Amino acid sequence: MMGSPILLKLFEHDEALARGVFRLIKQQENRLTVNRPHSEVMAINHAAGRHPVAVSPPVYQLIKRAHRVSLLPGSAFNFAIGPLVKRWKIGFQGNSVPPKDEIRALLALTRPDGMTLDDDSHSVFLHQAGMEIDLGAIAKGWIADEVRDYLRQQQVDYGLINLGGNIQTLGHQTERCWGIGLKQPFAEDGALIGVIKVMSRSVVTSGVYERYFELDGRRYHHILDPRSGYPLDNELLSVTVISRESIDGDIWTTLLYGMGVENSLTYLADAPQIEAIFVTRDRRVICSSQRQFSFSLLDDSYRLHN
Ligand code: ADP
Ligand code: MG
Ligand code: MG
Repeated sequence: MMGSPILLKLFEHDEALARGVFRLIKQQENRLTVNRPHSEVMAINHAAGRHPVAVSPPVYQLIKRAHRVSLLPGSAFNFAIGPLVKRWKIGFQGNSVPPKDEIRALLALTRPDGMTLDDDSHSVFLHQAGMEIDLGAIAKGWIADEVRDYLRQQQVDYGLINLGGNIQTLGHQTERCWGIGLKQPFAEDGALIGVIKVMSRSVVTSGVYERYFELDGRRYHHILDPRSGYPLDNELLSVTVISRESIDGDIWTTLLYGMGVENSLTYLADAPQIEAIFVTRDRRVICSSQRQFSFSLLDDSYRLHN
């Protein structure tokens, strides 16, 4: 689902419960997807430049959140990025590097300030034809939290959901914490750099090695820089965010990616609820702080900085 493998771990054999989880994921994906012709989000995109479209309250709230984050000054998170994502097609058939002038033209359409959100009617209006919103950088986090809430309602107190690298966990007993592997970038055998231990926390990783294509010896990955129109390019190979809510983790991996290590560490010093692990091209593993998790290094070809 959602272009990714989905893993659910429960400690009781309960098929009805598992089916309920997958039904919920499917339902939310159907509302949010931009990879099929029909969804609430696609209805907004189809009406760009023409008229506002009312959506369901939860989808509206999600869009409001994405909108707010996209408007932050210098934000690398921009959910109006749809036209560029569609043109690059990274991770899909037919990807190619767009010519510079085309990128420039598409950048003009990726403006979070070029839309109107109306709280009364729960409607969204994209002012210009060709504009498209894309919730790909926030949807999995939101759905992971929904799954956690659903499991709690069903009296499950121990479980894990992994939506393609977006992990949310339930469980409070210290002696039974979750160990989440931090992948070695580009390792084909699933080798790990280390293990992140958490209890009832979300662990979200975004990496340049998740979805990409190669052309003329260059690698193009799927997190685009809304400021340049090209894939984000800095010293980082992956960013992992540990937080209570997975939606925060999903948003923050993109924001921190765009900030780079130094600026991120400065920023996170004042944001105790959000903690991060950065993996750099020169094999450094940098933890911002370790209040909500503990990290152990397994591969000593990496250097750990706390
Ligand atoms: P993952 O695919 O690991 O969940 P993200 O959460 O960063 O990674 O989401 C990436 C997806 O978000 C892309 O596939 C694309 O649909 C969309 N996207 C790409 N770049 C941006 C960006 N700068 N801001 C917001 N959304 C983006
Ligand atoms: Mg994200
Ligand atoms: Mg994500």
